[in-house]
Amino acid sequence: MNLIQEQQLKNFINGNWVEPSTGKSTSVINPATSDSLVQVPLSASEDVKAATKAAKSAQKKWALVPAPQRAEVLYRVGLIMKERKERLSQLLTMENGKVIEEARGEVQEGIDMAFYMAGEGRRLFGQTTPSELKDKFAMSVRAPVGVVGIITPWNFPIAIATWKSFPAIVAGNAVVWKPATETPIMANELAKIFEEAGLPEGVMNVVFGSGSTVGDAMVEQKDIRVISFTGSNEVGRGIASKCGQHLKKVSLEMGGKNGVIVMDDADLSLAVEGILWSAYGTSGQRCTACSRVMVHESVKDELEERLQKEIAKLSIGNGLDESIKVGPIINRSGLEKVKSYISIGKEEGAKLLTGGYILENGDHKKGNYFAPTLFTDVKPEMRIAQEEIFGPVVSLIPVKSFDEAVEINNSVEFGLSSSIFTQDVNQVFAAQRDLDTGIVYVNAGTTGAEIHLPFGGTKGTGNGHRDSGIAALDVFTEWKAIYVDYSGKLQRAQIDVE
Ligand code: NAP
Ligand code: MG
Repeated sequence: MNLIQEQQLKNFINGNWVEPSTGKSTSVINPATSDSLVQVPLSASEDVKAATKAAKSAQKKWALVPAPQRAEVLYRVGLIMKERKERLSQLLTMENGKVIEEARGEVQEGIDMAFYMAGEGRRLFGQTTPSELKDKFAMSVRAPVGVVGIITPWNFPIAIATWKSFPAIVAGNAVVWKPATETPIMANELAKIFEEAGLPEGVMNVVFGSGSTVGDAMVEQKDIRVISFTGSNEVGRGIASKCGQHLKKVSLEMGGKNGVIVMDDADLSLAVEGILWSAYGTSGQRCTACSRVMVHESVKDELEERLQKEIAKLSIGNGLDESIKVGPIINRSGLEKVKSYISIGKEEGAKLLTGGYILENGDHKKGNYFAPTLFTDVKPEMRIAQEEIFGPVVSLIPVKSFDEAVEINNSVEFGLSSSIFTQDVNQVFAAQRDLDTGIVYVNAGTTGAEIHLPFGGTKGTGNGHRDSGIAALDVFTEWKAIYVDYSGKLQRAQIDVE
């Protein structure tokens, strides 16, 4: 089966597959093999303008389609994704590198989101509330915002797009989407699925191209009323300040420096499994990846030993091979960045227990592979314990107490995910109260969010919005308050109250 159907991707604007105005494109590289997969357009602001114009006109009609009917399109999208799950998963592994089991999980997340958000077509609840005046009715409804701009990263090329586009679409908006240049194949596939599912033309538009050109042009478009962004802090801050100047609503989901706490009474086998999965899965390239472990000093030696033993068993390679547990890093510069943190850690005095190098022999030479790495005796203020590395690097930080572990967990710039392994119910409840992250896990690693709960974080991770769950609807709707006076006379609020 030839998975790749076209060699040259095209933008999807107003229901048409069109070449970029620039005529330029670049290669998409498989990070496991360095093979070129397809050519992706490098569009310009002209293309963003065309997409925005199409979206604006399509949105007017789309907003008038009853929400349960809008939802039917999402049900069909979910069904097609389900039918194509294996094909999509393999393509995802090829463009992004994550191992096939995780790619299947990611595609499943998109399917779940389709059915969940389709259900919203029959809810989209507002409130009714008594009026303070006689013969007057008061209610609030969710109104679509209009045209929304979606900017997504390469590390979850389909799931994050569904988290954003499905609630936007069911709520009656039209979308302009700029996927990451590294992973456009999933975007191409999702656009085709929308087309086949019968989404009216112009409701979903995809413009490929670099962030600094296409992404920036989206932020500058007056008719794009919301920007929903997931990516790095640096880019997110830039987008937010520009959106501020345009009084544009902006939802940001950014980095993490996620910690696992292992207490003295923890089930250590479970903790080891949870740490391995959340730290080295997707080669640590998850915004929720575990990169710090606050371990109680009484179990530190044993945890170190067990982790090293299990890390040694991790098979590293091309994720299309079912036996592989750890895939490549997305690109060469990502690989170099991870490597740079190894010398930073050593210079700061951390002890390297295992890993810390690029794999350069045999088949590994073709891709961007980094050995799963474990540091110990890390101090909370060290850079490897504070900065997002986005690779398979974990820092063990010894602690003396629960309070110290929580304090260290909360001492970073980010606030996405955290976890605690303990059997003590008092500590469980204290932890879910005191860990200052948007997501808290008990007796599990730092990854594994489900789509019906809000996803996002505090502090440097975001700006107060959430993807996923009902909370996502808040990003893509405006609250509209409606008063209906059936008294036949002018009644003045706050004044004509008897
Ligand atoms: P990135 O460099 O910030 O890119 C994210 C997206 O923004 C890409 O589509 C990129 O386009 C675009 N972009 C770049 N510069 C832009 C600009 N000036 N204006 C508008 N858009 C611009 O992030 P990444 O390297 O792809 O992803 C890794 C980061 O994402 C990590 O920090 C990770 O923690 C974070 N992340 C967070 C979450 C979460 O929900 N909290 C989830 C996943 C990932 P091009 O790359 O095509 O140029
Ligand atoms: Mg980037």
